[in-house]
This record gives sequence, structure tokens and C-alpha cells, in this order.
Amino acid sequence: MRHIAIIGSGPAGYYTAEAAQKTFGDDIRVDVFDRLPVPYGLIRTGVAPDHQSIKGVSRRYEKTALTENVRFVGNVAVGRDVTIPELARLYDAIVLATGAPHDRDLDIPGADLRNVFGSAAFVGWYNGHPQFADLDPDLSGKTAVVIGMGNVALDVARILAKTDCEFDGSDIVGHALEALCAAKLERIVILGRRGPHQIMMTPKELGELGDLDRAAPHVDPRDLPELDADAILEPGQRKSVTLLRSFAAVPEHIRAEKRIAIEFDFFAQPVALFGEGSVEAIEVERTEVVAGRAAGTGETYRVPASIVVSCIGYRTAPIPDVPFDERAGRFANDEGRIMPGLYCVGWARRGPSGTIGTNRPDGASVVEKIGEDIAAGVLGRADKPGREGFDALAAERGLEVVTFREWKKIEEAEERAAREGAPREKFVDIEAMIRARG
Ligand code: NAP
Repeated sequence: MRHIAIIGSGPAGYYTAEAAQKTFGDDIRVDVFDRLPVPYGLIRTGVAPDHQSIKGVSRRYEKTALTENVRFVGNVAVGRDVTIPELARLYDAIVLATGAPHDRDLDIPGADLRNVFGSAAFVGWYNGHPQFADLDPDLSGKTAVVIGMGNVALDVARILAKTDCEFDGSDIVGHALEALCAAKLERIVILGRRGPHQIMMTPKELGELGDLDRAAPHVDPRDLPELDADAILEPGQRKSVTLLRSFAAVPEHIRAEKRIAIEFDFFAQPVALFGEGSVEAIEVERTEVVAGRAAGTGETYRVPASIVVSCIGYRTAPIPDVPFDERAGRFANDEGRIMPGLYCVGWARRGPSGTIGTNRPDGASVVEKIGEDIAAGVLGRADKPGREGFDALAAERGLEVVTFREWKKIEEAEERAAREGAPREKFVDIEAMIRARG
């Protein structure tokens, strides 16, 4: 029997568990750890609350979680409750599927002003991540500035723009819904340091901005390249740029019918943030794109900003004893192998890019590497204690491990507490989750 510890129960973690099970069958035992008492990582706390169909993929992970040879070990943080060397003594292979939970730094003066947030924190707040439930953003001002032109920036802009009714059927947490409903925003400015051809937004998600009750996207036609230039784009990107063109074609008087303007400000690089305690404005430098990169032109201007959310990417959290690539912000690895016996998948392996589905082949390829290392004899004999060894360690340390069965009780309690039409009302603190497991 071989034993695998997967650290992180998001898509990367569960696709790896699924692949391990398919590859090794009954010869494997897999423990999927999570620092939270609840599973599914970004499916629960990252995917936007109004994108319920995407969250449906967790049913597939549940199937894997409910099989005999896979087990969920919730409320155990690697690095705090148990170390990597300790796990290495218990399991044949450790797979880090810890994602990239830290915001990439917005390295400009004023970034520490109040009401300036990274997207991990802001998204975590509206999605009920216990770490960010108390964020308490001030939404009483008129202008929000969202930095970055990826799908996370789109999520944040859309969530800020939606009305109460547009959250029907979503699982946005109560505290965020209340705050968003009381918001007084009139402008949401999305800053991109490059141009329309370089946006990272995908068409389906971008299209949603054109269909909001009280907000309309504004694109300045002068920012768009000649139509012919779109021919060089790959199809998805071309669709996104075509959407930008359709936004630019909407006459001003039609757009003005909506209370909130979502303005795309291209070729705009943040330089500094200003304010007395809380942010009041952002200084931006005009750029031009030179050889694909944003180059400052020296021309600057200020945009009023009562709240700023920086959506410029993420970094993996380092773990003691694990080699880390500082520049890339993820574990140092060769196609998922950190060293024989220690592997990584998903964002912890390749950085914060790709869709949920990208993690599936990632999981399969790391399981293949584990198989190769077993066959090469570098993982030693099959005599590690695995889950029994971990259970003894957990008992010795008094860890409050949450099992999958207990998670299902937490889930039922969340479903019972749901607002009308909502799938659940999430617990936003760990103590409440632990109490709900019965
Ligand atoms: P992303 O797609 O990499 O976009 C990051 C954006 O931040 C880019 O526009 C980038 O501009 C900009 N940026 C980076 N550093 C900057 C700086 N210092 N100053 C100004 N701008 C800066 O990342 P993401 O939006 O965080 O998304 C992460 C992944 O999750 C992506 O693969 C995304 O598709 C996925 N996701 C998918 C969905 C969905 O499908 N519904 C939802 C959310 C996230 P440059 O291009 O110029 O570097």
C-alpha cells in the first residue's frame, strides 16, 4: 500500500486525488488536507458567488471524496499543525495543491492606505473566507478603481455593480450583500496598463458586463486599434475585443441611462495612491505598448478613488522546508516534481493562470511522476504508516480534525440557513463551522 498526502482541497487537490485513485486503484490511500474545516478551496472562496454553475464542479470532487481510499482531513494547516518533514515520514508522496492565496504586491506609494485591497482579500470578503470576513470595505464613496484587466478584475467590477435582485440565486454572504446594497457607487474604473489587444478577460465573462441592470460598460473608441488589426488575435481574444468594440459602439445617451458607469481605462499604469488615512485618488501614468510591454510616457493624471481593489495576480504561500521560486511566486519545481516524494500541482506549480479544468491534466501528470518515482525505487519500500500514523500524531497534538462526514453536516447547516432562493449561507468563521459539525 502507498500513501499520498495532498495539501489543499481545491480543484488541483481533488483532480490529483481522482487521478491517483484511477491510476493506483486499491493500492493507494489518499488524505486530502485543508487548513479550513470545509473543502473545495477556490470553488468555495474564489469563484464568484453569482457563478453557481461553475461551482457545480464540486459534485465531481465529492464523488472522489466519498470513495474508500480518499479521505478529507479538514482544519489541519501544514506548517502550523504538522510540518512537511513530519508528513514525509508518514506518507510516500506529498502533493502541494495549496494554490496562490497571497495577493501580488501593488508596489506603489500609498498602497497601505485604508480602503485599498488586494483581490484575494476583497474576493475572500464577499465569498465568506474566514480570513477576510472582517474586511469591512467602505463602499460609501462614488468611485471604485479596479486595477488589472483579467477575469478577477471583471468579477470584482461586476459584483460591485450588481443590484440586490441580481444576486438572487447566488451564495454571496449576507454581510457583503448588505454592504453592496447600501453602496453609493457611480463609477467603476478598470485600469489596464496595456491596451485592448492585451486584456486577459475571457469573452463569456466580459459579455456579462453588457447585461447589468444598473451599470453599463464604457469603452472609448479612440483606444481601439483599427479593426483589421484584430485578425492577428487568437479566436477567444478576438471575441473579447469584439465585445469591447460593441461596448464602444453604444451611444452615450443609452449608456447614461444606467446609474453606474464601468469605464475601461487602457494604457493606464498606477503610479501612486493618495488620501488622508483612507484612499481618495490614484495617480496614473499613460503608457504605450512597446514590444508587448507597457512603457510609461511620462504623462500622468489623477482618478478619484474612494475604494481601490488591485486584481493583478497572486503568489503561492511559502511553506518551511519547501524550495520556493521567489521571482515566479510559486514552488520551485520541474513539471510538478519538487524532489522525489514532494510534488506540486495547480497554481502552486505553474502560477495563477488557466481555468479550473487546467488542473485536471496537471493532477494526472503529477500522479504519473509519482508512479515513475515508485517504479524507479526512489520512494523506498511501501512501509509508511500513512493515515494511521497521521491519526496518532493528530491525537497526540489534540488537533480538531474535521472529516468529510462532518463537512456534510456543516454544509447541511449552511443550506438550512440560506436566504430564499440562495443555495446556502456560508459560515464565515472557523468556530461556527466547527460547532456546526455536530
Ligand atoms: P490575470 O488574468 O493574469 O490578469 C492580471 C491582470 O493584472 C492583467 O491585466 C495584468 O496586466 C495586470 N497586472 C499585473 N501586474 C500589474 C501591475 N503591477 N500594475 C497594473 N496591472 C498589472 O489574473 P487574474 O485576473 O488574477 O486571474 C487569474 C486566473 O484565474 C486567470 O487564469 C483567470 O482567467 C482565472 N479566472 C477565471 C475566472 C472565470 O473563468 N470566470 C474568474 C476569475 C479568475 P498585464 O497583462 O499587462 O501583465
